[in-house]
Parts: sequence; structure tokens; C-alpha cells
Amino acid sequence: MAGEKIDNQRMEKIVSLCKRRGFIFQSSEIYGGLNGLWDYGPLGVELKRNLKNYWWRVMVHERDDVVGLDGSILMNRAVWKASGHEDTFTDPMVDCRSCKARLRADQILNKKGEQQCPVCGGKDLTEPRSFNLMFKTYVGATEDESSVTYLRPETAQAIFVQFKNVLETSRKKLPFGVAQIGKAFRNEINPRNFTFRSREFEQMELEYFCRPEEGMRLLEYWKEERLKFYENIGIARAELHVLNVSDADRAFYSKGTYDIEYDFPFGRQELEGVAYRTDYDLSQHQKASGKSLEYFDDETKQKFVPHVVEPSAGVDRTVLALICEAYTEDEAPDEKGKMETRTVLRFHPRMAPIKCAVFPLLKNKEPLVAKAKEIISLLRPHMFVFYDESGAIGRRYRRQDEIGTPFGVTVDFETLGEKDAVLRDTVTLRERDSMKQERVKISELTQLLTARIA
Ligand code: ATP
Repeated sequence: MAGEKIDNQRMEKIVSLCKRRGFIFQSSEIYGGLNGLWDYGPLGVELKRNLKNYWWRVMVHERDDVVGLDGSILMNRAVWKASGHEDTFTDPMVDCRSCKARLRADQILNKKGEQQCPVCGGKDLTEPRSFNLMFKTYVGATEDESSVTYLRPETAQAIFVQFKNVLETSRKKLPFGVAQIGKAFRNEINPRNFTFRSREFEQMELEYFCRPEEGMRLLEYWKEERLKFYENIGIARAELHVLNVSDADRAFYSKGTYDIEYDFPFGRQELEGVAYRTDYDLSQHQKASGKSLEYFDDETKQKFVPHVVEPSAGVDRTVLALICEAYTEDEAPDEKGKMETRTVLRFHPRMAPIKCAVFPLLKNKEPLVAKAKEIISLLRPHMFVFYDESGAIGRRYRRQDEIGTPFGVTVDFETLGEKDAVLRDTVTLRERDSMKQERVKISELTQLLTARIA
């Protein structure tokens, strides 16, 4: 693939940092884990929330034409029959009879016209068989065919089946969108690349309903909006790529689809898919349920099933992209002025899990500690802050650099006015990336920081 750079060593360092500093842990780790499932630790959960909150802010709160929904994960099985997921949400699978590996058909090697297992090189392979990616479950006390349903493999379907209710209660006019953030589950055959391909993940999806004649224009419109979103969370435009999905590769009902891809250390991969799905979903549910999902246009007196453009992004993949993008190693002087390697997560302040760390210069000087705690109370209503009094100040800075805290405030003797009365109630504010320090008044700190993390 063009422009693709694979850097396994960098990825290993990132995975290790994620565990060491409490971003991402293997699910059920003390029992040996469960493949394709992950838990977000104390810092990971903050990063994830910042991302979801910002998406919601940009996609719902800052727009007049989008409302939200929070649908249930389990839905009537009829939804998955009508949407096509029960019959077609499958990957063709091949088993290797030699090493017993189960592989997606597109992973089988083709060596001079001969099919080969990529794991053991064996040539004794089964024919491709369909494997449904949905997790099956039973609702209620009896475990039989009548109680079967699935954990949703995407959040979108709740939006389609609630279309009429949302339309009537929100009184929106076309074009308008319904946004949702929530868990989705896919029994991926081959979970890999850390959290990139998981079996349980979160999606941020918008279904943007429109008149049929507006579909192609809106598909284009969302491209710029979505690219801007990634830039605004700190992912450089140069690392983002738009891949137009070919006619052969896109769903039969889609008139146009593109993926927004990011250059991960393991290669260029999809972050988000944007698809013009026509009126396929609403028409399918209208047919299967027998309930009208039409829109009535007051002005033209026309009744029709709206078309839809869907930007569908992955929370986990974006969190991973944020971490990969932020991970940097540079050089900084240690306590004695000797240069050493510094690991920094250069998160955009908007995304950083902790916004500001507050340090008393010494932990055994009560007035310094009291002042630092006062500052914590001052900032706490506005942002997530962290208090740290242990170890040399340089080490405390390093610990925060490694988890991406953009600002550090140090309370020293000057803060107490011991050296110069003019400096009383001022602190040093250190910026993570430049490591520059400025002297600021405590009374101006809240305003200064809230402006920088907005
Ligand atoms: P892929 O081709 O990588 O399997 P997809 O095209 O099937 O993805 P969509 O069905 O378009 O994915 O889902 C929308 C978004 O949901 C994806 O762009 C991705 O960010 C996220 N997503 C899908 N599958 C997974 C997964 N297994 N783990 C994490 N995120 C996922």
C-alpha cells in the first residue's frame, strides 16, 4: 500500500505504555484474558470520554439539524432479519486441516496459483464457509429458536427503527440527522492489532436523512466535516487518507462510500466509514414491519422514504489513533542537566485525560502543600486535575509527560511571597511540549487554562 510504514517496535512501546500507565488492559487478564476484549483503565476511560464528549458536542450540540438517541443493545430479532445482518453479515472462512487455524478467506496466501495457510504453510484447506459475525443470545427463560436475538453489530439499526418516533417528537425537517454513541459486538475471526479489531467496541454513528437528490452532495459535505473533526482532536491531516471504496467492494445498496484511514504503526487502516446508503434501511424496515417510515413534505405535499448518509466512526480505533499520534520520544535534561530520552504523549489538550497537574515544590512544607491543595479546589470544577507531591519535581513532570498532561503548576516559595512580595500568589505554569515555564497569577489560572483546553 502506498505510503504505508510499518513500525512494530513503536507499536510494542505504545502497547506497553498503555498497560504500564493505566490506559488499556487486557480483559479478564488474571484469568488469561479473552481474545479481542479490552478494559480501559483510569486514564484510558478519561481519554475515551473526552473523545465521545467532543464528538457529541460537534455532531449534536453545535448543530441545529441533529438530535441524539441512545438505543438498546438487544433488539427484536426481526430488526436483524430486515436489515440483512442475519443472512449476510458474514465473513467467508477457511480452516487449515494441518494446523487447525481458522482464517478469513482473504488471508489465504496464493503462491503460484496454489492456496497456502499463512500460519503453517499447509495446503490442506477447507472450502470457504460462511461465518456469521453476530453474537447470538436468548431473551427470557427459554433457550429455543423463538427467543433468539443478537448483540447488535452496529448502533445504526436502532436509529432506523426509531425514525418515526424521533421525527414526530423532534419535529425536524429534512435534511436532519440522528446521532448515537454505543457499544457494538462482532465475533471477529481474527482480532488483532491491539484494540483495532476487537470483539466488543464502541461506535459513534450519525444517520443523516435527506431527500434522494441530495444524497451525493451530502456524502461529499461530510468528508470535509469529518476530516476537520480529526484535525481538531490532534490528528494531523497528513496522516489521514480518504479511500474511495470501489463499486465492487461497497454494499449493493450504497451509491457511494469512502473510508477515512489513518497511518497506524501497523499500517494504513480504517478509522471511519462514510456511506450513502440510499433508502435501503428505512425501506427494508418499512417492508418488514408494515409500518410507514415515510416523510411528508409540507411544502411539496410529497410523501417519500428519505435517503441517508452515514458517517460511522469507531471510538476504540480513534482512541488508538490518538495514542499513536501523540506518542513521541524526545530529549530533555534530567535533574543534573544531563540529556535523557523523554517519552511524551502529545495529546491535544482537549483530549488529554488529565488537563493539569499541581505540585507543591516540597511535600514536607505545610504552606506549600496547603496552597497546592487550594489550587486543586479552584481548578477542579472546571477540569480534571491531579495532585502529586512525591519525588523530585523533574520526575513528577516526567510522569505527567508520559501520560500526556499538557500543563503543570508548581507552588514554590515565591508563591508564598517569601522572596519577593510581588510574586506572592503566583505559580509556575509549565507547558508539556515546549517545557517552557511562565509565571502566572493564581487568580488568572482558571481562565487561562480553560481557554487552552476548550
Ligand atoms: P473493517 O473493514 O475494518 O472490519 P467495517 O468496514 O466492517 O470495518 P463498519 O461496519 O463500517 O466497519 O463500522 C464502522 C466503524 O466501526 C469502523 O470504521 C470502525 O471504526 C468501527 N469498527 C468496526 N469493526 C470494529 C472492530 N472489530 N473493532 C473496533 N472497531 C470496529
